[in-house]
Amino acid sequence: MIIVLKPKAKKKDADEILKQISSAGLKPLYLPGTERTVLGAIGDERILENLHLDNHPLVDRIDPILTLYKMVSREIHPKDSIVKIGSLPIGGKKCALIAGPCAIESKPQLLATARAVKESGGHCLRGGAYKPRSSPYSFQGLGVEGLKLLKEASQKHDLPTVTEVIEVADIEYVESYADAFQVGARNMQNFRLLKELGQSKKPVILKRGMSAKLEELLLAAEYIVAEGNPNVILCERGIRTFETAFRNTLDLNAVPYLKKRTHLPVIVDPSHGTGLKELVLPMARAAIACGADGLMIEVHNKPKVALSDGKQSLSPKEFRTFVQNLKPFISAVNKTV
Ligand code: PEP
Ligand code: MN
Repeated sequence: MIIVLKPKAKKKDADEILKQISSAGLKPLYLPGTERTVLGAIGDERILENLHLDNHPLVDRIDPILTLYKMVSREIHPKDSIVKIGSLPIGGKKCALIAGPCAIESKPQLLATARAVKESGGHCLRGGAYKPRSSPYSFQGLGVEGLKLLKEASQKHDLPTVTEVIEVADIEYVESYADAFQVGARNMQNFRLLKELGQSKKPVILKRGMSAKLEELLLAAEYIVAEGNPNVILCERGIRTFETAFRNTLDLNAVPYLKKRTHLPVIVDPSHGTGLKELVLPMARAAIACGADGLMIEVHNKPKVALSDGKQSLSPKEFRTFVQNLKPFISAVNKTV
């Protein structure tokens, strides 16, 4: 429920009502505005009815939150949230460029790729140490060894990092070596994992499941935020459709739809969204045009010999051209790189 206080209500009045909300077992939210204060009560709404706050002299009105997701909804938090990965803000004026290999394969591979990302103007290094692969015979990632290489590359090239976490037991390692967690498409509804990530303060890039509805994506984000971690970034990475010309169909409808309903930043991954390197630039441009707060791009120092996702990975030279060709589109939406 959203409880709008009368303009004359003071902070101490708000505190008193928040206390009542909390003692009734609901989650209290304090949302001060320029003109008036709004409070939130998250949980079983029937409990709130018993508090009879509608009769309170300083309560102007009580509105229900209509969506199933509450904390991530714009209804409760009308302003855009800016989530920081290290010192990189995601959301707001800057268009964030997160780039790097699908998988961390070796020290020379990661360092060469990180250097290329930095030199071309990338802001954050990605790279998987734990890889959820469709085949058990495919490269599964270097594990902690890979995380150590990621940290080394991060320090050497002054880039914050993000890497995928595929199970609860890996959280503590990923947390100590990287600046952000990635939850992959295959784990979007791994609710135990989401709840545990809610205990961390580090940001989580939550990728849309390949057959997940947007409401399910928002509810998955709600799992993390409701546990206490507000630092969630949503990522559209394509969905599975009848079309087989591409690896996935990049659903850019999702971007303006999500931006309207949630205050969380939304980024787009056109590498997995298309599976084809020649489609990465046009779809990245389209993503910027429809309001994405950033992009996640796969880059590999030698895409032809990559152990995973080589076909959709840009070489260092291609990434440089990519960034140059993207810049006018970023300026056109009044954002900066
Ligand atoms: C990845 O980012 O390399 C990855 C496995 O992505 P997704 O979960 O979107 O398939
Ligand atoms: Mn990949």
